[in-house]
Formats: sequence, C-alpha cells, structure tokens
Amino acid sequence: MSFQVVTPYSLDEALGALASGEKLVPLAGATDLMVYMEAGTLAPCRFLNLQELDELKPTLSVNGSLTLGAMTTYRDVRVSPIREQFPMLAWAAREVGALAIQSRGTWAGNVANASPAADGVPALMAYDAEIDLWSKKERRRVPLAKFYRGYKEMDRRPDELIAALHLPLPQPGWVDYYRKVGTRRFQAISKTLLAGRILLDADRAVRDIRMVFASIAPYTLRAVQTEAIVRGRELTPEVIEEAAQAIQDEIHPIDDIRSTETYRRRVTSNLVRDFLSL
Ligand SMILES: Cc1cc2nc3c(=O)[nH]c(=O)nc-3n(C[C@H](O)[C@H](O)[C@H](O)COP(=O)(O)OP(=O)(O)OC[C@H]3O[C@@H](n4cnc5c(N)ncnc54)[C@H](O)[C@@H]3O)c2cc1C
Repeated sequence: MSFQVVTPYSLDEALGALASGEKLVPLAGATDLMVYMEAGTLAPCRFLNLQELDELKPTLSVNGSLTLGAMTTYRDVRVSPIREQFPMLAWAAREVGALAIQSRGTWAGNVANASPAADGVPALMAYDAEIDLWSKKERRRVPLAKFYRGYKEMDRRPDELIAALHLPLPQPGWVDYYRKVGTRRFQAISKTLLAGRILLDADRAVRDIRMVFASIAPYTLRAVQTEAIVRGRELTPEVIEEAAQAIQDEIHPIDDIRSTETYRRRVTSNLVRDFLSL
C-alpha cells in the first residue's frame, strides 16, 4: 500500500470517515508528516486532508477568550494584532523553523505531534490553553496541561480531530518570558526551553505563576511543584534559589544527540533563575 490522500469537503464527512474505523492520519500543514515520510518512519497510510474544512479554517477570534481555528499557522499569529495581548505566541512562532515552515505549520499540528521539544506547545500551555476535540459522537474540551500522558501519548482518540484551541484573555499585570536554548539562535531544536508567566503584587510577592518546559521530560511539562514553591512568596534571592533547586526534582532530562542530561539540568535551573529575576 502506498500513501493516499482523502479530502473531505465538510466536517461531517471528515468525522464520519474517522468514525468508520479505517486508520486515517489527519494532515494539516504536513511539516511533521512529510519529515516522517521521508525518514521512512511513517507506515503507508491514508491521510485525511484538513485543508478544505471551513470549521477548521485559520481564524484568530476574540470573544471572551482567544480562539485559534485548527488550521491557524504560526505566520497567522505573527502578523495578527493579537500578538499584543499574547506576546509569547508571537515569540514562540518566531522560533519555529524558518518562514516557510511558519507559513504552513499549524499550532494544532504542533499539539497533536506531541514532541517534547515542540516550541508552540509551551507557550499555549503557559496561557492555560484548552483544546476542542471533536468526533462524530461527541465534542469535548480538555486543558492542554492535562493532555499529555507519556512520550507521544495523549488524550486524543483516533476518531477525534483537534477543532480549535482556546486561550483565556490575560489579565493586566502578567509578565511573559520565553527562552529557547538550542545549538544555534534559529533553526535549531531546543535543548531546554522555559515559557513562563508571572503576576506580582505591589510588594513583589508572587500572586500567580506558570512555568512550562520543553525537552526535559517525555512531553511538554508544566512544573506545578516549582510553581507552588514561589506562589504567595516574595521573590528574594533565597526563594529564587529554592525554585532553581526544586525544578531538578520535577524534570527528567535525557542524554540524546542534541544535548546531555547534565547540561539540560544545569541550564534549566539557570532559566528558572533568569525568569524569576525579572
Ligand atoms: C524544517 C523544519 C523545521 C521545524 N522546526 C520546528 C521548530 O523549530 N519548532 C517546532 O516546534 N517544530 C518545528 N518543526 C515541526 C513542525 O513544523 C511543527 O510541529 C508544526 O506545528 C506541525 O504542524 P503541521 O500543521 O505541519 O502538522 P502535520 O505535519 O500536518 O501533522 C502533525 C501531526 O499532527 C496531527 N494533526 C495535525 N492537525 C491535526 C488536527 N487538527 N487534529 C488532530 N490531529 C492533527 C497529524 O496527524 C500528525 O500526527 C519543524 C519542521 C520542519 C520540517
């Protein structure tokens, strides 16, 4: 069997095809899927082309929250005024490959590809994104922070499509931080990455915080234990150092072709120090 592409022209048709039991692989921008095909790591299959589905089309709409249609690309965000309210989305988009990839690759594809080194997912997770998962029999919404269960394992059934991503509008006062550490400044996969957001009181006590890391665990990790250590406390040098040590118990970095466990551990603590010293 070779690779084939099925193009549905309505969402009903697409969800019906997924419900039929036949193994269909959703195809959005294909920037991950084509790499897997070329590398020979994708078994011959039928792709379900999502390009013609109105309900999934690239949209950035604000109506109490920000909604990204499933086919929204990195470029769509980079050129949208929404980047003023969600600066970290634009920073993350800028880190993904180069312009050609940013023009085709989708945020939903980044989520569904489930790479622990994804650049878009940490920003979405730090903004408390939720995912709309639609199938023929139900429509449900799950928090992105609870979506991943293990390496490339996620809370998505084969008959479900990611239809949209929803992000609550940030309240005034939040400060965003996004830093990717790779071999080069651009066109590199991260060795470690921190997407952080922090809300401080007037006396510099931490009212609320998000700390999301890439490339230091089998999936994008929100470091809830380290967040809990600083929440409600003033950011003294001692508290910052406590957090920089605490992150070591939450991460599970490995040695691989891009870096070593030792380097990832050391630099991840440095990112925590840098973020909390804002
Ligand atoms: C040269 C190059 C550089 C890259 N650089 C980066 C980088 O710096 N940072 C980074 O994070 N990524 C990078 N990528 C990876 C890729 O571009 C991103 O992960 C991108 O967001 C994938 O989106 P896509 O629309 O192309 O997904 P596709 O390749 O179409 O699909 C990816 C996976 O998601 C599934 N999928 C897609 N859409 C849906 C949906 N709506 N519902 C359910 N499942 C769906 C597919 O079935 C597939 O399993 C790079 C890729 C290339 C080729």
